[in-house]
Amino acid sequence: MNTPSRDCGLCPRLVSLRLDCRAEEPDWFNAPVPSFGDLAARLLIVGLAPGRNGANRTGRPFTGDYAGVLLYQTLKRFGFAKGTYAERPDDGLELINCRITNAVRCLPPENKPTPAEIKTCRPFLIEEIEAMAQLKVVMALGRIAHESIVATFGGKQKHFPFAHGAAHHIRDGLVLFDSYHCSRYNTNTGRLTTEMFESVVGEIRKRLG
Ligand code: URA
Repeated sequence: MNTPSRDCGLCPRLVSLRLDCRAEEPDWFNAPVPSFGDLAARLLIVGLAPGRNGANRTGRPFTGDYAGVLLYQTLKRFGFAKGTYAERPDDGLELINCRITNAVRCLPPENKPTPAEIKTCRPFLIEEIEAMAQLKVVMALGRIAHESIVATFGGKQKHFPFAHGAAHHIRDGLVLFDSYHCSRYNTNTGRLTTEMFESVVGEIRKRLG
């Protein structure tokens, strides 16, 4: 599978931020963050992009920032992860029948990738999905991930409107579940509660059995 190299140069703005981060924090990961979990999994979770002090620092999606706390605790609760999530890539946490990736692999300024950056990174998402032979459910964390997944399948956005808790039949035998992103902002403002997040992951559990 083709994955972005550590020095991927496809998005000039993201390269520039990466170089700044490497100068400021030379011990951090500071590179496109690889996906986490088994390619043979039936569930793929797609986030937005690495957080500066989270995945960009540690090199594992959703690891080391607030978004990961709710995500990994919920995955454990519904049997999609086991072990201890200790905010480090060597904490021994294991995903079960689940893989996690991001719509954009590099840290974007202010957590906001541009539409061009999302499009430029999409071939990596396409490869990811094509490499998952047992894939049955894709979970989008937030609208940007949702739209990139719909584009990956060549779907029209108006036929697959993003809504928290929605389930879209995106291809034969493959369902896309939407959730608001589990960011600190969304949980602090009450847009996403633990119950709302658990309800989506619980529905996915029911579908996958
Ligand atoms: N960390 C990630 O890897 N992705 C997100 O979308 C947020 C935090």
